[in-house]
Amino acid sequence: MIVVIRSDASKDKQDRLIDWLKSMGLGIHVSVGDYQTVLGLIGDTSKVDIDLIESLDIVESVKRVSETFKCVNRKFHPEDTVVEIGSVKVGGGHFCMIAGPCSVETEEQIVAVARAVKAAGADMLRGGAFKPRTSPYDFQGLKGEGLELLKIARAETGLPIVTEIMSMVDLPLFEDVDVLQVGARNMQNFDLLKELGRTGKPILLKRGLANTLKELLMSAEYIMASGNEQVILCERGIRTYSDYLRNTLDLAAVPMLHELSHLPVVVDPSHATGIARMVPPMAQAAAACGADGIMIEVHNDPIHALCDGAQSLKPEEYADVVKKVRAIREALV
Ligand code: PEP
Ligand code: MN
Repeated sequence: MIVVIRSDASKDKQDRLIDWLKSMGLGIHVSVGDYQTVLGLIGDTSKVDIDLIESLDIVESVKRVSETFKCVNRKFHPEDTVVEIGSVKVGGGHFCMIAGPCSVETEEQIVAVARAVKAAGADMLRGGAFKPRTSPYDFQGLKGEGLELLKIARAETGLPIVTEIMSMVDLPLFEDVDVLQVGARNMQNFDLLKELGRTGKPILLKRGLANTLKELLMSAEYIMASGNEQVILCERGIRTYSDYLRNTLDLAAVPMLHELSHLPVVVDPSHATGIARMVPPMAQAAAACGADGIMIEVHNDPIHALCDGAQSLKPEEYADVVKKVRAIREALV
């Protein structure tokens, strides 16, 4: 249920209303916008008397929210959420380019890629240290050592780092990481989501391989319900009937997620297509449909990459994508 407060309501009366609603055992999500304040009521609202609340002089309107996702719901928070990572902002008109290798391999590699993507215009550096691989015999990532190498690359370039956490056991290692990525395979690891909700750190939540938008939003709800509002959604392609492509990039998810939720939406055309030459056109399409950011895999030597070389762009190819994507963004406004 949402309660829209009249713009001339006094703070004192609002606080009294909030206290009274809390005394009914409800959680209250307060969204203060430029034009109105919205109270989102979380919990069992079946016994709440809508007519009584509506009759209060500080209340403009009351509506039931039928969706099961509440905190992530745009009805609870009409304005776009802007996630801030140092000086980088994502959402609400702020666009960000994230780039880097699938996996951190060596110091030389991650620093070289970080310098190259920075020069190309990237805002953040990505790189996996803990890798969720289909085969247990494939490279599993450098783990803690990989995180240290990412920090070296950050120190060299100033780019904030985005990297995947697979298990809450590893959480202490991620203290100095800027954005924690939840990979597609862990989108419904609810214990991990709850734990990440308690960290207050920016989370990049990827859509699962075969998950619906509602399921993605419910996973984001787990993080937000545990107290963390810093969530970025990521569309990275889903399993359908694609034969020549790794996945199917569901770009219509971008405007639909924007309609349903206030959270920023980033698109990953690398995992969505699996083929380097498919990445530039789909990155441009993602920018055109209103994505708040694009995450692309870039490697200085894709042929010898330990993971996902086939979908990785070379730095010069990435620089060209950045130019085209920025031109599309400008054409939109
Ligand atoms: C990745 O970003 O390297 C990754 C493993 O992505 P996904 O979880 O989308 O497969
Ligand atoms: Mn990858």
